[in-house]
Amino acid sequence: MSKPSLAEACLLTPLTCDGAMGTQLIQRGMTVDECGMAWNANRPDDIKAVHQAYRDAGCRLITTNSFGGTRTMLARHGLEGNTTAWNTLAARIAAEAAGPDAWVLGDVGPFGDFLEPMGDTTPEELEDIFREQIAALAAGGADAILVETMSDPEEVAAGVRAALSVTSLPVIATFTYQKTPSGFRTMMGTTVADAMRSAYDAGAAIVGSNCGTDLSLDDYLELGRRMAEAADGRPTILQPNAGAPQLIDGSIHYRATPEEMAALARQLRAEGITIVGGCCGTSPAHLAAIARA
Ligand SMILES: [Zn+2]
Repeated sequence: MSKPSLAEACLLTPLTCDGAMGTQLIQRGMTVDECGMAWNANRPDDIKAVHQAYRDAGCRLITTNSFGGTRTMLARHGLEGNTTAWNTLAARIAAEAAGPDAWVLGDVGPFGDFLEPMGDTTPEELEDIFREQIAALAAGGADAILVETMSDPEEVAAGVRAALSVTSLPVIATFTYQKTPSGFRTMMGTTVADAMRSAYDAGAAIVGSNCGTDLSLDDYLELGRRMAEAADGRPTILQPNAGAPQLIDGSIHYRATPEEMAALARQLRAEGITIVGGCCGTSPAHLAAIARA
């Protein structure tokens, strides 16, 4: 029997997305300035083991290790020549771990600069950058494309257009917000309602939020309410961090427990959020508690 489409599956059952990849790779020895994408080629067993741990925790959406996988981000390490090969590999590794009952989300992060007029990149150039990465993720077996950790609705629109031009896969788009006196806004100042509307209008099937700047678990619940209002019945996704980061002895710690994250997940579902997962500081233990909830 073939796998139902992600859109169908969303309607049938609560789905749990996976949690942080970066946090897990750092625990496995990755250094801060290292290129995480290179691990797909050099440490594939480690990447697969992280995917497998999330899969075993009950996550049905497995995200490829390709956050910094555009040629512009790889160029920071002088590794842009590997763009197609490493993105295809990232999707293949995730697909092996996902198996027949989970979907692979081909991960696309920010391209690392600003669009015109703040930066030098035109929307057409950006679309081309994203197209190269997304085509490779699709070739490796991605079931959907996830455009994530976004601040600029125009960058999201370029990502969604790029995906729709080279694949027929559904596109998920997530923005990162901070709390301001005038409500939740992206780094570019965009409100939840405006960000979500523009992403759905661009053609994203599922829209939501991941990560966040200094947001507490209560903030994520409030954000979930705003998102559900703005989505107006369309599918949504929220991937909170494990609470607000705390600086302890010079290093950053995320302290929310699996039980606290599970309680939040239950509340988010009650508010109408379709898919819940995790971002910075979350581990397979957090995601197992969320999936159970
Ligand atoms: Zn994060």
